Amino acid sequence: MDFDDTSEEAAFRAEARAWLEENAEPLAEGARPVSIAEFRKRPDAIAAAKEWMARKADGRWACLSWPEAFGGRGASRIQSVIWEQEEARFRTPPNMFTIGQGMLGPTIMAHGTEDQKARYLGPMLRADEVWCQLFSEPAAGSDLAGLATRAVRDGDDWIVNGQKIWTSGAQYCDYGMLLTRTDPDSPKHAGITYFIVDMRSPGIEVRPIRQMNGASTFNEVFFTDLRVPDRNRVGEVDEGWRGALTTLMNERQTLSGGGVGPGFAELLELARVARKAGRPAIEDEAVRARLADVYVLQKGVQFTRYRSMSALSRGATPGPESSIGKIVSAPLRQQMASLALELLGPAGGIVDAGALPLGASFSEAYLAAPGGRIAGGTDEILRNVVAERVLGLPPEPRVDKGMPFSKIPTGRESPSTS
Ligand SMILES: Cc1cc2nc3c(=O)[nH]c(=O)nc-3n(C[C@H](O)[C@H](O)[C@H](O)COP(=O)(O)OP(=O)(O)OC[C@H]3O[C@@H](n4cnc5c(N)ncnc54)[C@H](O)[C@@H]3O)c2cc1C
Repeated sequence: MDFDDTSEEAAFRAEARAWLEENAEPLAEGARPVSIAEFRKRPDAIAAAKEWMARKADGRWACLSWPEAFGGRGASRIQSVIWEQEEARFRTPPNMFTIGQGMLGPTIMAHGTEDQKARYLGPMLRADEVWCQLFSEPAAGSDLAGLATRAVRDGDDWIVNGQKIWTSGAQYCDYGMLLTRTDPDSPKHAGITYFIVDMRSPGIEVRPIRQMNGASTFNEVFFTDLRVPDRNRVGEVDEGWRGALTTLMNERQTLSGGGVGPGFAELLELARVARKAGRPAIEDEAVRARLADVYVLQKGVQFTRYRSMSALSRGATPGPESSIGKIVSAPLRQQMASLALELLGPAGGIVDAGALPLGASFSEAYLAAPGGRIAGGTDEILRNVVAERVLGLPPEPRVDKGMPFSKIPTGRESPSTS
């Protein structure tokens, strides 16, 4: 591993830092950047995040990896990492627009028409328009190609009926990218068509889902005779799975397992101040052993990340190490939050940062952690990916391979053909 910047990287870092010093306030010594879960509690969260993104766009620091033709810098992965490191030293809103900018924008670039690129990418980059991902359905999550939302051609339009679920941000989004079933008689990965949808169209109903932390970050979205113009189709009819794969590949790179939250230093601090059996918890052997376990895992993740960065910096492609980040870090966040809540005892129920600053961030992290193990590929699915694509183990049996979608037994009357 090589921790030193090359001369180009050092110059890029200096340019980024100089811009940030002019445009943002540095974080206090020892403070960490606010997590999305914490930031969302601000009533003006979306407005503040949009304002910061527009300012970054003015300085050409938004969507760095996008090609220059679309307003980015064509930045390498290592340059994006350097920017993230520098931005993390300042008090700035977290990026609440990664679904559009990190996943859907690159899909439009790869599969969209020139008109779509010209119309949508600019406002997406500035976060003037915010996007959601209309993929998962009640019976199609890990097995996304099992989706049943139906689109039927009607002249220059398509008529869409069906339901999505877990759609993050749908309640404040302007546009969504939607996967539909257009040919139920083809095998499930064929017969899917990908569309851009105006979320304010008649025929769309968004119902927020209330989560255990009290927030409603995701939604059910219902389509009833929604009309989508054919010019909003992304890619060819029945070939939407190609676009879906582009989105999912970018999703794996965008999500790292739950976002920034309290780290090991804060857990250690908590173990010092919390009491167990009349003495500081850190003096308890069982607590020390669990802290050590967390420390080792966390260092493993950190050094694996450094290995990837060294590879990127040398211009090489990171190897299998890039597949293990989320598999290890998402459960680790849950393990840390769980230990913190045990140390806090009854105070672990407090989520008000004003009342209990250190504890509340762990309580929040505890409630968000299970979602981090599901979003963007569950633990089990990511293990399958590593087993099959990294270790070359035999693939798991896929009994519906090649079978027409309409013939796949579902245990219910097939809505796909209706
Ligand atoms: C915080 C959050 C945000 C999300 N945001 C969005 C969004 O914006 N847009 C969107 O479209 N979706 C979104 N999702 C949905 C997410 O993509 C799905 O939840 C995920 O793909 C899992 O699908 P599922 O919930 O249907 O679970 P299922 O696929 O039904 O899985 C249930 C369980 O079975 C296991 N399992 C399934 N298949 C296999 C297998 N082959 N081998 C071994 N185990 C298996 C899974 O690991 C899991 O434990 C979000 C989810 C979360 C948690």
